[in-house]
Amino acid sequence: MKRPFAIGSAFLFFCCALPSQSGEFDAERQKMMQEVLADAAATSSYSGSSALSPGVIAAMGKVERHLFVPSTLTSVAYLNRPLPIGHGQTISQPFIVALMTDLMKIKAGDKVLEIGTGSGYQAAILAEMGSIVYSIEIIAPLGKQAGERLDSLGYHNIKTWVGDGYYGWQEAAPFDAIMVTAAASHVPPPLIKQLKPGGRMVIPLGTQFMTQYLMLVEKQGDGSMTTRQILPVRFVPLTGGH
Ligand code: SAH
Repeated sequence: MKRPFAIGSAFLFFCCALPSQSGEFDAERQKMMQEVLADAAATSSYSGSSALSPGVIAAMGKVERHLFVPSTLTSVAYLNRPLPIGHGQTISQPFIVALMTDLMKIKAGDKVLEIGTGSGYQAAILAEMGSIVYSIEIIAPLGKQAGERLDSLGYHNIKTWVGDGYYGWQEAAPFDAIMVTAAASHVPPPLIKQLKPGGRMVIPLGTQFMTQYLMLVEKQGDGSMTTRQILPVRFVPLTGGH
């Protein structure tokens, strides 16, 4: 009677290898989400929002962060921390990704520009929100790798480009929302121009050695701008020749 059981368990192992591979990190991702939600609750007085939107929670719960980090860091991919992605750059902390996405208040079908593709993780989150994403990366190998990764994951609503994001993406403008994922000393004027009236931009402002603040910049219907300081943050600098 042992033999069928042995065969059965061998089959069980074989048959379950696939599902357990694709869902391998589900529990870790859920734990990460608990920490993201706790951070969002703890900072609600800064962000002005008592909870993340259901769309942001669903997107963060779905995208597999371990596919966006170097293979040597797979085991720590779901820590609520930034991680190195090579070339001196980092994939942002999951809570910051969630907060920045939430602040943009994007709707399905919105055209969104991201400056700083990095690993492509934030672009994937924006795509999961139903937006059409344009993402620019200044470091060619990172931009190329992220573009290939996003293609292989089936994100056909994300267009990537290697260049200096300070100048935006004129051919695709105007955008409903713009997210800058590297710290700038000022809001780049070309990005203000490429934002639709009523549009929102989220950008960390400040230098590498001073406190940086995440800012929410809104373009009013009449073209005037309002800015709101959200949280102290730490980002890699926006580089380029500007
Ligand atoms: N959003 C990324 C993390 C970004 S880290 C992710 O989800 O992984 C910031 C990125 O901005 C880095 O990859 C850096 O090379 C890029 N960057 C810095 N200055 C830039 C510029 N002027 N134009 C485009 N990308 C820039």
